[in-house]
Amino acid sequence: MSTHYRGRFAPSPTGPLHFGSLVSALASYLDAKKHHGDWIVRIEDVDGTRCKTLFSEQILNTLNSYQLFSDETVRVQSNHTETYEHYLSILKTQERVFPCNCTRQSLSKYQGFHPHQCNSTINEPHSWRLKASDIIYSYHDPIQGKLTFVEDLKNTCPILKRKDDYFSYQLAVVVDDHQQSITHLVRGADLIDTTAQQLHLYSLFGWNAPNLCHIPLITNNMGEKISKQNHAKPIINGDLPTLLRALYYLKIDLDAVTTISQALNLAIQSWEPNKLKGIQHLRLEEQDHYFI
Ligand SMILES: [Zn+2]
Repeated sequence: MSTHYRGRFAPSPTGPLHFGSLVSALASYLDAKKHHGDWIVRIEDVDGTRCKTLFSEQILNTLNSYQLFSDETVRVQSNHTETYEHYLSILKTQERVFPCNCTRQSLSKYQGFHPHQCNSTINEPHSWRLKASDIIYSYHDPIQGKLTFVEDLKNTCPILKRKDDYFSYQLAVVVDDHQQSITHLVRGADLIDTTAQQLHLYSLFGWNAPNLCHIPLITNNMGEKISKQNHAKPIINGDLPTLLRALYYLKIDLDAVTTISQALNLAIQSWEPNKLKGIQHLRLEEQDHYFI
């Protein structure tokens, strides 16, 4: 693996960029630039039922308006389905996956988890699921501390390819990060839940996992993630006050800056993940409620 720092921001184009995504984009950008590394944008549109090209364009425009420019050509996942098929075939050969035609209804008694290998056949329309494992993964997160995943792989068998032929985020994200030689992931704490599955995939493919760092999730008053599902509003393009508020949630307070580039340069110097130590959630302050 390359020792040169390579980070990325990988939004899903299911809607325009909202405030929570801007905070995530900034954290990954600041960490990359603080380490004199590359920062790459990738469009995670592997779920063709929810993603739209229009939103990809809007997201990239918004990132550019905040002077968050990808250091390389933006990779678009939907152009790489053959690659994901190739890596799924490796897991099939290794007998690490199994066909599944369980329905949401049949899994409702397991709260939507799929805790065991089922007896579905390959002749029916089916998804491909990763077999459960007893392996316990653990790593040190610069913000969240030591994280150990004891039950995560025992209790669910995540889908890698869906019944409708779309690949899952889990497989695509691991393959992409490996192919793009990503060395550091800085992303929202909501993704801690699926980290063990990704570490397991890295291990099955014999790849080194990137360094992982999970920043606090920005939540509303109900403690829910600010997300497109919760109808977060699109942010205005190129708006300095919005940028300063996003930096505030990364514990960067800037006074007397007049331009976006000045703010970014100062923020790179001030970025210190230690200031967020142990925080998984940050509630959006009253004055920022116009973002949701
Ligand atoms: Zn099943």
